[in-house]
Amino acid sequence: MNLIVNEIFYSLQGEGGRTGQASIFIRLAKCNLDCRFCDTDFESGRDMTVDEILDEIRGFGCKWLVWTGGEPTLLLNDEIVAFFKQKGYQQAIETNGTRRIPIGIDYIACSPKQNFEKVRALIPYADELRFPMQKGSPLPDAAILPEAAHYFLSPIFNENRAIPENIDYCVELVKNNPPWALSLQIHKLIGIR
Ligand code: SF4
Repeated sequence: MNLIVNEIFYSLQGEGGRTGQASIFIRLAKCNLDCRFCDTDFESGRDMTVDEILDEIRGFGCKWLVWTGGEPTLLLNDEIVAFFKQKGYQQAIETNGTRRIPIGIDYIACSPKQNFEKVRALIPYADELRFPMQKGSPLPDAAILPEAAHYFLSPIFNENRAIPENIDYCVELVKNNPPWALSLQIHKLIGIR
């Protein structure tokens, strides 16, 4: 069982419903979308077996994995999730909502970028829905989206700098549209990965 891994790093979850929790991030290569605001390198990667990944992460002293990308469902499968579950890891995934989620994932953070009306058929329930927003972006229609425990609006940053008008815009949207909530990329604000 192999994966193409862009990077592995240990940090705190910087946004969404698990904000502040220690997590081992495994960024997989490849994405099936081409978002204009994308700030992520998902082109390069090294081929690693699951045992090589396990060797690299076992020293971190944390039992939460976050599969991210790119779009991690392009490479991750049920067998690989089962492998890490058997090793005692809880697993979150950050997905754009265009593909089925592997069986065994413990926390689904879904951030749809397009075709919102098709997401529910693939992902009936998500632990969180999170939408990058800039000033003027329309509020997503929650009625057509998967059921979720948390609905987040995430103001788009300029690299690591907050953009005040995007934050102000999201604050007003949240005040006018509960149960949406604000999610800030605190890892960028406090200067960690
Ligand atoms: S889905 Fe995510 S990783 Fe893929 S292009 Fe869009 S922002 Fe980038």
